[in-house]
Amino acid sequence: MPFKARTESIELKILRILDLQMNLTVDEQKYYLNLEKGFEGEVQFDLLTEKLQGECFILNDLLLEINNTKFQIDTLIIYQETIYLFEVKNYKGDFCYEPDSFRTIYGKEIKNPLDQLKRSKSLLRQLIQNLGYNLPIEAYVVFINPEFTLYQAPQDQPFIFPTQLNRFMKKLDMTPSKLNRKHKKLADQLVSLHISESPCTGLPTYEYKQLKKGLTCKVCHSFSMSVQGKKLVCDVCGCEEEVESAFLRSVEEFKLLFPDQKITTNVIHDWCKVIKSKKRISRILGKNFKMKGVRQWAFYE
Ligand SMILES: [Zn+2]
Repeated sequence: MPFKARTESIELKILRILDLQMNLTVDEQKYYLNLEKGFEGEVQFDLLTEKLQGECFILNDLLLEINNTKFQIDTLIIYQETIYLFEVKNYKGDFCYEPDSFRTIYGKEIKNPLDQLKRSKSLLRQLIQNLGYNLPIEAYVVFINPEFTLYQAPQDQPFIFPTQLNRFMKKLDMTPSKLNRKHKKLADQLVSLHISESPCTGLPTYEYKQLKKGLTCKVCHSFSMSVQGKKLVCDVCGCEEEVESAFLRSVEEFKLLFPDQKITTNVIHDWCKVIKSKKRISRILGKNFKMKGVRQWAFYE
């Protein structure tokens, strides 16, 4: 069990909904798919760190700040003598390393992950020194995707390639380590310094009226759903779900997209589309949320 678990960012959750409910531009969609791919890669790496048997604290997905500078860490592992810092990249395909650039073999230059790694390592070092620790930090870029190749990769850079990952993890797990109260305190401090929500910088602007309304299939995300009694049936894949659970999922999505909007029967009636009866909507809302106000002014929290 990690000391701090990874969760999806609000930005990713919102983009996932917007991708289904409006037309994202090519750039917006690219940005969204990159986030999705990045998250997927991190989750893949979590599957490996979860298997570590030795004494260590695993902290996933930290957003920290020092001297007004924010930095993000994909995975941090505290061992007795060392802190390991991992930047996980889910790049797929053929890339090429040059001393001052990092690019795809087609020549498209991308951000050098080593720059990012150096930056977070140095900021993390300052932060833990400020907290009164002087554990050394070992930092690595992990390329998690088995279909990744880096041409001209030098041996002396802190890269872990897909073909090396298993051996690296095994070696890491052999590290003798006994954790004490001080390590626990450091882990607690880092978690408490974590900034829980990063600003959603890449979100497109969206308005209620642009969005496609209706309940969606939890499996194939289709909007072609029909209500059959207590069940909601997908016309595309045939998947069935309780109306209530699909409805609540949809209300949660509405809240995520429009956090300042009040949840009322009328609003949700329009949002969910396929449930025709307002009475039924009021009943499910009343069962799952707290009702405030009365009659036509009632809303749910
Ligand atoms: Zn479906």
